[in-house]
Amino acid sequence: MAGLHLIKTYSSDSDEDKHDDDEKHDDSKIVNKQTRLALPASILSLKGVTHEEVIDNPSDHDGRIRSFKHERGNWATLVYIDYTTSDCLHTWMKSMLNELPVQGEIISNLHISLSRTLVLKFHWIESFVESLKLLCSGFHPFVVQLTDVKMYCNEEKTRTFLGIYCQNEDGTLKHLTDAIDCLLAEYQLPSFYEDISYHISFFWCLGDKQTYLKKILPSLTCSLNKYLAENVEDTYIHVKEIQCKIGNKCYSFGLK
Ligand code: AMP
Repeated sequence: MAGLHLIKTYSSDSDEDKHDDDEKHDDSKIVNKQTRLALPASILSLKGVTHEEVIDNPSDHDGRIRSFKHERGNWATLVYIDYTTSDCLHTWMKSMLNELPVQGEIISNLHISLSRTLVLKFHWIESFVESLKLLCSGFHPFVVQLTDVKMYCNEEKTRTFLGIYCQNEDGTLKHLTDAIDCLLAEYQLPSFYEDISYHISFFWCLGDKQTYLKKILPSLTCSLNKYLAENVEDTYIHVKEIQCKIGNKCYSFGLK
């Protein structure tokens, strides 16, 4: 969630902006912006975002601080598995708010991250998307099991999360993230965590609140296990596709 929601508020620049720079540096050209030709629809749909400059204001996103600065030509990117809860599991998540010793919020866009939040250059998007599509098509669908409640902190220690740990018995999930890491290395992008803990974050709060939350993890896990025993259909997720969000454009790639 750290990445996914912030990506929404992190638009990027276009080659139109680069065009601006080029023009500024070439005094011999006097170009009226309004007479400029429109970008082809294919380019616009590829980018799928508006072109305005981003000025970060944490109050616009509940006090969260952007992990990396907006820069021209950079596109916030996340590879993940989309997850929609049943109404019952969502109710369970909301009911956990009463058990917590800290103030925070339930997360609505649920997912399992398969990468860190990355910064992709505009001119890499097309080939990256194609490569990721090809990569995903080489993996069979797999099953993930929800097990216990764990806590996570972002690297800057500005936010703490509660997540449901996701276990994959046949190892496909690890092979998939290894393959994604290899692809990211080609773009000199950082790989996922060495000690990956796949999870679905369902709660977040500001600051590093691990000391407070640690104490109640066993009772949260106990409550989750009780819930799952009564709602077995919510225990397993059948993963058939992988998502990638670049700027505010979402891509979906089917598995084999
Ligand atoms: P997510 O719900 O995927 O956005 O993850 C929430 C936070 O967990 C992110 O800010 C990650 O940086 C953090 N995190 C900390 N340790 C890990 C780990 N071992 N594996 C995955 N995510 C982690």
